[in-house]
Amino acid sequence: MNPINSYRAFLDFKRVDPGYRPIDERVRDWREVEGHLSGEELTQQAARCMDCGIPFCYGAGCPLKNPIPEMNAAALEGRWEEAIRLLEQTCPYPEITGRICPALCEGSCCNAVDSEPVAIRQLEREIADRAFAAGYMKPRAVAPRNGRSVAVVGSGPTGLAAASDLNLWGFDVTVYERAKFAGGLLRYGIPDFKLEKWMVERRIDLFRQEGVRFECGVQVGVDISLDFIRRKFDGVLLACGAREPRDLKVAGRELKGIHFALDFLSRQNQVLNGELADVGGEWSAKGRDVVVIGGGDTGSDCVGTSIRQGAKSVTQIEILPKPPKSRLANNPWPEWPRIMRSSSSHQEGCERSFATHTLSFEGDEAGRVYGIRCVQVEWQGRTPVAKPGTEFFQKADLVLLAMGFSGPEEGAPSADGLPNVWAAGDMVTGPSLVVWAGARGHDVAREMARSLLAVSAKV
Ligand SMILES: Cc1cc2nc3c(=O)[nH]c(=O)nc-3n(C[C@H](O)[C@H](O)[C@H](O)COP(=O)(O)OP(=O)(O)OC[C@H]3O[C@@H](n4cnc5c(N)ncnc54)[C@H](O)[C@@H]3O)c2cc1C
Repeated sequence: MNPINSYRAFLDFKRVDPGYRPIDERVRDWREVEGHLSGEELTQQAARCMDCGIPFCYGAGCPLKNPIPEMNAAALEGRWEEAIRLLEQTCPYPEITGRICPALCEGSCCNAVDSEPVAIRQLEREIADRAFAAGYMKPRAVAPRNGRSVAVVGSGPTGLAAASDLNLWGFDVTVYERAKFAGGLLRYGIPDFKLEKWMVERRIDLFRQEGVRFECGVQVGVDISLDFIRRKFDGVLLACGAREPRDLKVAGRELKGIHFALDFLSRQNQVLNGELADVGGEWSAKGRDVVVIGGGDTGSDCVGTSIRQGAKSVTQIEILPKPPKSRLANNPWPEWPRIMRSSSSHQEGCERSFATHTLSFEGDEAGRVYGIRCVQVEWQGRTPVAKPGTEFFQKADLVLLAMGFSGPEEGAPSADGLPNVWAAGDMVTGPSLVVWAGARGHDVAREMARSLLAVSAKV
């Protein structure tokens, strides 16, 4: 038993976060920016968990329903192997969610009612890292093959979660992925400074060793047809994501130097993967005044990427007003707090402008963007109204559009009422989070298994 009295430790210890590597060091490389808690800090943070009678962290917060109080208790007492065994029952990739999850659980932690939540994500990250370091993370036992086969189209976190479950239950699983490497947005969207790609590959390797087959560089609907895989497999899961970017159709949109955020981020990830020699002059932020339009996480990833590419300046503009510092009355605990947040990338040197609308892009004689005409807006209900006299010019010779995604790409395969074809993840819900992709992968795998096991095996 740990000497710390875990049921009152939240009174003794404040929340501590590891923070980030120094800015002038981290902007010169692409490695993970976040630091680690010391062993003692980790124990104290685990002890802050109150083991509540009603643990809202997983009841209301975590889509995967990770057993958070039990996991924290195991970490507190140094039962690291038990902690990972608990966590892997619900989470298909804790070393990944432990790094890039916004931690919905922390928003609904009982400590967060009037204080700081338990550092749940840090604990998850540490449990997973220690499990790999100690050699506890081995391929798991798989049920005997049940004679049914499944094709999963798309190797993002939705497809991976479903493929892993179905494989463990004895299905023969093949994942088709159009990209060169598996991982979806884990590999081609999220930058290395949040999630280094060897970690994604290490997890995929574990799934591979457990028996999941990956066929990369195969686009369903182009290289092979959906009909073909329907004939070949008993069931098909479409998990193709929501990659259709929202556009900004204002004057000057056709100018050179205006790109969609994900295209920009993917190119950098492809360079780091060794798929591309460089991002290309047309795409690079080096020496440029970069404006990112869209104030969300994708936009923030563009900020950090631009800074590492050597941008002269980076500005992020957002049409919504600046969020409040703390929860408003209409956003009570245990809801996710809609408050002002600053990412590690924002701290690296970025101007942020809220309630700002783009009127037009201005170009030079060569047809290349050199600036944006903007105006401040006031929100009247759900309508942004331009404030007279607030128009301004923002210099920009690289513009990145990060205004979200409207749904699956045009031409994406569709389940469309086809028997034994399911769809899940961002493809169905629209853009979401990795933790939700994992949860939806689990849900659809259960549905598929129930349905496919109800019919007799093919001979
Ligand atoms: C830039 C960016 C950063 C993000 N950062 C975070 C974060 O920090 N934390 C977080 O929780 N969430 C984050 N998200 C959201 C998160 O990445 C997504 O919600 C999640 O990846 C969705 O998973 P998915 O498997 O449904 O789709 P995806 O990850 O998009 O995967 C779909 C896969 O299907 C493949 N595919 C598509 N069509 C075909 C086809 N016809 N044949 C074969 N393969 C096909 C694609 O190539 C892709 O690999 C971020 C999103 C973006 C864009």
